[in-house]
Amino acid sequence: MERTVKSEEEWRRELSPEQYRVLREKGTERAFTGSLWDHHEEGVYTCAACGLELFASDAKYDSGSGWPSFHSPLAPDRIDTDVDASHGMVRTEAICPRCGGHLGHVFPDGPPPTGTRYCVNSASLAFRKKDTGGR
Ligand code: FE
Repeated sequence: MERTVKSEEEWRRELSPEQYRVLREKGTERAFTGSLWDHHEEGVYTCAACGLELFASDAKYDSGSGWPSFHSPLAPDRIDTDVDASHGMVRTEAICPRCGGHLGHVFPDGPPPTGTRYCVNSASLAFRKKDTGGR
């Protein structure tokens, strides 16, 4: 996958302050405050920074956490992970494989079929509605 590389100045110009804080500074939005945790339309969730398609709506489920939660990415190569040892915890960070943006974290307490929970900030995502063909 070809990487999207931009200077922090460019990212700062293109992203909202909240998107920049989460995607580029590994921030976390407050639970139950994002635009997509309680969002149920059919379509695709993309990286808010580079537009890469990350998750399908049929992999989204209500984890009760207050953040958009998915049991799997659109394809295995749509998520990169790293060890995050900040805040006195060891967690798995979820990263956009194309632009390196911080998405959220991965936990081993998800539902079938994977048992994995991709816990993602709304600020890191954009949503594209399924094309229903005709209007
Ligand atoms: Fe990205």
